[in-house]
Amino acid sequence: MSKEQVIFIIEDETAIREVVHKYLQLEGFAVLEAESGTQALVMLREHSVDLIILDIMLPGLDGFTIARTIREPSEYSQLATGSSTPIIVLTSRGDENDRLAGFNLGADDYVVKPFSPRELVARVKAVLRRNQSSPQSEGDDSLVFGVLCIDPRRHAVTLGEKALSLTAKEFDLLWFLACHARQVFSREQLLNSVWGYEFYGDESTVTVHIRRLREKIEPDPAKPTYIHTIWGVGYKFEEQ
Ligand code: CA
Repeated sequence: MSKEQVIFIIEDETAIREVVHKYLQLEGFAVLEAESGTQALVMLREHSVDLIILDIMLPGLDGFTIARTIREPSEYSQLATGSSTPIIVLTSRGDENDRLAGFNLGADDYVVKPFSPRELVARVKAVLRRNQSSPQSEGDDSLVFGVLCIDPRRHAVTLGEKALSLTAKEFDLLWFLACHARQVFSREQLLNSVWGYEFYGDESTVTVHIRRLREKIEPDPAKPTYIHTIWGVGYKFEEQ
C-alpha cells in the first residue's frame, strides 16, 4: 500500500478512543480522533479520511446527524471527506432501532458495545477491502442487465447514463443477487452470504437493504424490474 490509510474515530469515551487508536496504529493505520459531533464535522472539513468509526451517542451532534451529513452533503457542509466514505457504527447492545437507523443512513457495518478492539480492527480491514477499487485492472467483469450495469472492479453501478451511489453493503448484496440471477434466496441465506455468519444482526437488516437498493436501482420501486419478492420465501434477481 502506497499511503497510510486514515481512520477517523468519533467517540466521546476517552478509554475506547485510546484503545482503538492503539490497535489501529499497530496495524499500520493513521488515526484521527474527535470526542464530539461538533469537533468531528470541523475535522471532516479539513481531512479526507478512508474510514470512519462513528459512535451514535455523542455530545453535541449525535452520530445520526454526522452520518447524514456525510452521506447527503450540502454545499454548506463543505466536507473534505467523500460522501461514500465507509462508516462503521458503534452502538449499544440490544438497541435494534439504533442499528436499523444506522443502516438507513448508509453505515457499512456496526459493532456492538462492549466490543473487542481486535474484532473492530478486523471489521475495519474487511470494510476497507470491500471498498478497495482497482481502476488499473485489466478486463471487465461487469454484469449487464438491460440498462443496469454492475462493475465489481470499480464497485460502480450505473442505470443507463446515471451513476448510482450505493453503500458497500448495498453493492455486495446487489452483486451477490446478480451473480446468482434467477435463484431465490431467503433473508437468512442472504444474511449469511452477504453479511457473514459472525454478523450480529437479524433478517430485518436484509429487508432494509433490499428496500434501499430498490429505491436506487428500480425505475419504479413499487413494481420492481430487477429485485423480486418471492412471498414466503425471499428474493431473487431477474430482469423482467
Ligand atoms: Ca458515546
